[in-house]
Amino acid sequence: MRSPYPDVEIPDVSLTEFLFADGFGDRADAPAFLDGTTGKSLSYTQFVGYVEKIAAALAERGISDGDVVALFAPNLPEWAALFHGILRANGIVTSANSMYTAGELAHQLKDSGAKLLITVSPFLDRALPGAKEAGIEADHVLTIDAADGHESLADLLGTSATPPTANRTAQDTAVLPYSSGTTGLAKGVILTHRNLVANLCQVAVMGEVTSETKIMAFLPFFHIYGMTVMMNQGLHARATVVTMPKFDLEQFLTITSEHQVDRLYIAPPVAVALAKHPIVDKFDLSCVKAIFSGAAPLDGELGRAVAKRLDCIVLQGYGMTELSPVSHCMPDDRSDLDLNSSGFALPNIECKLVDPETGQEVGVGERGELWVKGPNVMVGYLNNSDATDATKDAEGYLHTGDIAVVDDEGVYSIVDRVKELIKYKGYQVPPAELEALLLTHDKIADTAVIGVKDAEGEEVPKAFVVKQAAGADLTEDEVMSFVAGKVAPHKKVRVVEFIDEIPKSASGKILRKDLRARENA
Ligand code: AMP
Repeated sequence: MRSPYPDVEIPDVSLTEFLFADGFGDRADAPAFLDGTTGKSLSYTQFVGYVEKIAAALAERGISDGDVVALFAPNLPEWAALFHGILRANGIVTSANSMYTAGELAHQLKDSGAKLLITVSPFLDRALPGAKEAGIEADHVLTIDAADGHESLADLLGTSATPPTANRTAQDTAVLPYSSGTTGLAKGVILTHRNLVANLCQVAVMGEVTSETKIMAFLPFFHIYGMTVMMNQGLHARATVVTMPKFDLEQFLTITSEHQVDRLYIAPPVAVALAKHPIVDKFDLSCVKAIFSGAAPLDGELGRAVAKRLDCIVLQGYGMTELSPVSHCMPDDRSDLDLNSSGFALPNIECKLVDPETGQEVGVGERGELWVKGPNVMVGYLNNSDATDATKDAEGYLHTGDIAVVDDEGVYSIVDRVKELIKYKGYQVPPAELEALLLTHDKIADTAVIGVKDAEGEEVPKAFVVKQAAGADLTEDEVMSFVAGKVAPHKKVRVVEFIDEIPKSASGKILRKDLRARENA
């Protein structure tokens, strides 16, 4: 099934060239990024000046063709400048979740082969041990702000060197965000310059983002949704991206209203607040024209309540890190579509819906696993050809692990998820990681983690736990605090149930389906 939209042309250039080669015309002095909390802005000219300086300074520090630099910081205009500076230095960005513990960060730094880590001083207590574990010396840990004993962004910007010759082609790797995909631990997702350029070209057809648009970016740039749909789409359209380092409802509403933000990108939990929280009425939000929800399923009724309360359009899109990320969305001019759906396949995309049991393609109105093919599909997983082969088939279709239904107009609705992944407030929680951690507890004999709905309808990680014979006194709280002490907050186990045995297949695979059925019984 092809997208109903005609194919768009995807220039065969690097992301850097695609975004910056043509200059900025009358937007040269307009703000590209505005820190909503401080009011500090970077104009397009200043932004690209930063990018060039950062590239030159990174080259001086030995970063060159295909070297990986890790970014571990909250959403700041400087994050975006560093991102593009690394690419301009012919490097590769690996973007780490800013909530990661030192151990989680170390996994990504090691796996990606990062040579430098750029962070902020409040994160040094996690960044330094993480870097050390990954073999990165402390003098290779830089900070955006000033921190004793570390080079800062100001030092990079102070260089008098000239940037290296740009030599990246469209086929070169640009970023390595981490995703657990359909199974297992977090893996580096190889996205090329072409993948990123393609998704910007595809998305541009769907949304009315122009140089007049003010985009709200509190969703993290380290996740591909923030990176492509907010940061890079904003730059592509010569819009203004308003950043917030950390989500706080009142501050978010204040910034939106004060800076007249007209386009909000959210994940479903924020829709709950916008629909229900009394504080929303205290703000004049008449500036908001469109709200786009992605990263997890939006409840249609909730979306409609938001649209009514804010008197704006609400749209939903679907994507995945491995898809750079958007494959489906509602265009601005079709806000009449059922808000439980994720709209149409983007241009240049072909989809199949396949019965996971039989492997047969299914038709209109029938449930099947969504397979997606297009120029935005990742190259594969870093250092993991088995996982790549299990996710991307010989024809180039990415098997998403999500179950969808399509109607006769070509509108897709995501109705279930068959992969292991749990999404807590839009953030990835890989069950395999929690299971491996739980098994290190000496009172736990076996375990399996699945996603369940809490009282508010939010998906949360639940651990089924089999106690060791000598662990009869183990409590639910003990299990939860054991995990909470070792993982980023979004990965906390929030429900525990003790059971006698974890259902497993003959080959020893956890039968998550059986656990889900038990949960829904
Ligand atoms: P990530 O790679 O972190 O972006 O996670 C991708 C996964 O998030 C998808 O495979 C889906 O399971 C889920 N997801 C993203 N957007 C939606 C949506 N609109 N509806 C349902 N699930 C979604």
